[in-house]
Amino acid sequence: MNNEKIYDTALVGGGLAGLCLSIQLAKQGHKVILFEKETYPFHKVCGEYISMESWDFLCSLGLPLLAMNLPMIRNLEVSSPAGKLFRQPLPLGGFGISRFLLDNALKNIALEAGVEIKEGTKVEDVVFNEDHFELQVKQQMIIARTCAGTFGKRSNLDVKWKRSFLQRNSSKLDNFIAVKYHIRLAFPLDTIALHNFEDGYCGLSKIEADRYCLCYLTNAANLKKSHNSIEEMEQQILAKNPFLKIVLNKANRLYDSPLTISQVSFQKKSQVDNHLLMLGDAAGLITPLCGNGMSMAMHSSKIAAGQLNTFLQGQISRQELEENYQLEWKKNFAGRLRTGRIIQSFFGKAWKTEIFISVMKLFPAIARQLIRQTHGKPF
Ligand SMILES: Cc1cc2nc3c(=O)[nH]c(=O)nc-3n(C[C@H](O)[C@H](O)[C@H](O)COP(=O)(O)OP(=O)(O)OC[C@H]3O[C@@H](n4cnc5c(N)ncnc54)[C@H](O)[C@@H]3O)c2cc1C
Repeated sequence: MNNEKIYDTALVGGGLAGLCLSIQLAKQGHKVILFEKETYPFHKVCGEYISMESWDFLCSLGLPLLAMNLPMIRNLEVSSPAGKLFRQPLPLGGFGISRFLLDNALKNIALEAGVEIKEGTKVEDVVFNEDHFELQVKQQMIIARTCAGTFGKRSNLDVKWKRSFLQRNSSKLDNFIAVKYHIRLAFPLDTIALHNFEDGYCGLSKIEADRYCLCYLTNAANLKKSHNSIEEMEQQILAKNPFLKIVLNKANRLYDSPLTISQVSFQKKSQVDNHLLMLGDAAGLITPLCGNGMSMAMHSSKIAAGQLNTFLQGQISRQELEENYQLEWKKNFAGRLRTGRIIQSFFGKAWKTEIFISVMKLFPAIARQLIRQTHGKPF
């Protein structure tokens, strides 16, 4: 094999996990190639609120966050489907930035660091062959010593490899749909709102410029009930919450039609599959109500970068690389995902959410503790 053509690491997916990992590895001197099926810049379904735990990490990669003049978000308000409101300052807080802006800025940093980026390029398969990976891309074979799955919530490779989370019997953790708009609206700059409705919740918070991100998650049954019309679902189901009724009727929507995704699953996933290290949503998606998936994706890239660097320098075996990564991943995120699933179980049915919010109003110390569980520590 011609060594010139062998990459140290190939990354499948150029979202936050892939871009952040590529930058760290390239800065450590490794030869990195990253594949992204879309073309930057592009919009993504996401609430676009990033917990402060990631601030220092993003700055360390070279993202000039302070100069970007982004909104700082310090307060949370949660409403029940019937309109009971609960407000609480956020202990750590966060900031708002669109994925359109963030992912593109990271892509430029990755290019400057020397990462080879192939955008508009879908990886069709990855095969582990003795000591290297063979990636099948546009009738071409790419060879790499290591490979990471940074392909997000659901990818062609999950289906191709029949990953176990797709094989489990369907449950309350499956089959969600998500809808996102960028809007203009009179709403506080420093507050993230989570408005609940029957079988779903909708986040609203400020991002850059004069925009807000409005993003909601619900089960596919709600859409079916609404004759597969998003507009009908918003008017018949979401707008029963009086706060959402105002938001949906007053917002000035900045796209012609919303961005949508379906078949979102919060089932447990494996952190190593086919010898690839899985990062971000490909390793496990936390419900947005209960945690900060973007920060977890970035944090997992830091863990993977450390382990991959040690392996590429010949200090540990492939088996140790895989075991160490899984152990560190579980130490950092398994508890958070577990709390997430418990909190999630209190939401959905309107009566459960009403009771939950009444209890939080009565016992703000419990609420503060729960909010702390959904935000990690700076890394
Ligand atoms: C409704 C909703 C709201 C959310 N709100 C928030 C929030 O406010 N704050 C927060 O912190 N988190 C939020 N999250 C979670 C957050 O969006 C994710 O955790 C985060 O984007 C994970 O990053 P990632 O890099 O793992 O995946 P992604 O950002 O999804 O990136 C994966 C990339 O891989 C590419 N890809 C897939 N398959 C292939 C292939 N075969 N070849 C090449 N490229 C491929 C995709 O095009 C994609 O760009 C939300 C999630 C949902 C569903």
